[in-house]
Amino acid sequence: MSRFTPPVCPYAACSSHIRGRPFLWQRKGFYRRRCDDRVVARFHCLSCRRSFSSQTFRLDCGLRKPWLDVPVARALCAKTTLRKIAELLAVKRRTVERRLDRLGEHCRRFHAWMLERHQERGGCLPPLMALDELETFENDRLLQPVTVPVLVEKRSLFMVDVQTAPLPARGRLSPRDRRRKIAREERFGRRRSGSAEAVRRCLESWRRFGPKPGSYIELHSDQKTVYRKLYREVFPAHLRGHARVSSRERRDRRNALFVSNHTNAMLRDGLSRLVRQSWAHSKTRQRLERHLWVWVVFRNYVRGLTRKTWQRSSAMVLGLAARKLLWNDVLRWRDPFFSLPPLSSTH
Ligand SMILES: [Zn+2]
Repeated sequence: MSRFTPPVCPYAACSSHIRGRPFLWQRKGFYRRRCDDRVVARFHCLSCRRSFSSQTFRLDCGLRKPWLDVPVARALCAKTTLRKIAELLAVKRRTVERRLDRLGEHCRRFHAWMLERHQERGGCLPPLMALDELETFENDRLLQPVTVPVLVEKRSLFMVDVQTAPLPARGRLSPRDRRRKIAREERFGRRRSGSAEAVRRCLESWRRFGPKPGSYIELHSDQKTVYRKLYREVFPAHLRGHARVSSRERRDRRNALFVSNHTNAMLRDGLSRLVRQSWAHSKTRQRLERHLWVWVVFRNYVRGLTRKTWQRSSAMVLGLAARKLLWNDVLRWRDPFFSLPPLSSTH
């Protein structure tokens, strides 16, 4: 740990908190971390005179069980339910839930940081994307359906954005379900569709990191009419191509929405809560979204592109990363201290 060099002062109020500003510091010995006996280096900032340690920059800072991060992240992407993860790691389910919340938020920010980093280096997202909505539910399949719009880059299967939004209760309910629906509406109000807004947010992510206005972009989606309107509104100044695929078309490799269908199938196979007809369905949309972000980071940066091209990740195909990342790389530093280990430190 003695090789660690603090990049900035970790205190936001300090003048040395911003990268590039002068930052003078001194070493102040070591301490032994109680949870795992690891030796941690201490530092002293000469600007604000406060002390901190290498631990201050880490994602597992302040956690009593720092070793849980990587196995929990792995299990979350391996169709394991929260209850099973707790069983396997011999911890309480509540511990796994809290860890999922932390990891989900971290992964969302990590992905955003990777996109910003790419843009700062002059890169932009490619002009060809596929958009599709996966349907699932929170708590109740009939009364609380949820849509999950997913925007995927076509060549690399890179997931640019994923959102979740409520859908209204399903139609053709039995008298008993209708009564339940009315009871729910009295308590929580009518459940309205957030689909269009969620799709818009996905397209806006593409615009933010994608090709400049005036250039040609192409979207592949199904024939939902609102897509055309949203696409036009989000990209008024781009030359837009839009391939709209009929849902009746065969869903094979030649289908323009193949990457979307494939991504959805992978999500259903990778995330326990999206497996159909199981007990593992989401209880809340918020937690579904956090789980999805862990998957996005796995899909884009950690996993190999396909079994045949396992050495390359989706992010490598797009030039966002120079190598496949390990969960250890992703889960090392916390926001805003993200950084990747230099290439030479890998084997
Ligand atoms: Zn300071």
